[in-house]
Amino acid sequence: MALVTCGECGREVSDKAPNCIGCGAPIEAAGNKVAQPTKAELQRDGTFIGTKALLVKLAAKAVLQIGWRLDNADEQAGLVAFTTGVTWGSWSGVSGTVYIEDLGNNRFRPVGSAKQNVRGGAMLSINLFNEAESKVERIIEAMRSLANNEWN
Ligand SMILES: [Zn+2]
Repeated sequence: MALVTCGECGREVSDKAPNCIGCGAPIEAAGNKVAQPTKAELQRDGTFIGTKALLVKLAAKAVLQIGWRLDNADEQAGLVAFTTGVTWGSWSGVSGTVYIEDLGNNRFRPVGSAKQNVRGGAMLSINLFNEAESKVERIIEAMRSLANNEWN
């Protein structure tokens, strides 16, 4: 048996223990590895520290909070697909996907793409494309706000 230092609270605990007796954080047997993040943390540069699964959950939560339809949330692939509603005054909706880009060292950046679902299929313009892109931006903003307010 060896003693390792808990990555969360700094207490010395047995490497055979599954969790730190001080704070309950999971202990890795192979030395002083920092425990896997358990929440998504927003960084100053707009990226997140966490896991891909946590970021997918956060993106899915953002879609639902805005009130759009969540089409798919794939924690392994890091993809969240959504569709905005068709509202009065708007004659088409937007479908899009938020990708959780893995930057390494538990750091992730949400990026995305979207397209306008044109009813009838005939008309497309640059403005419509920009409107679709802005939907992805809105989800990413909601993710940042959720990470700041609720998850911390
Ligand atoms: Zn601890």
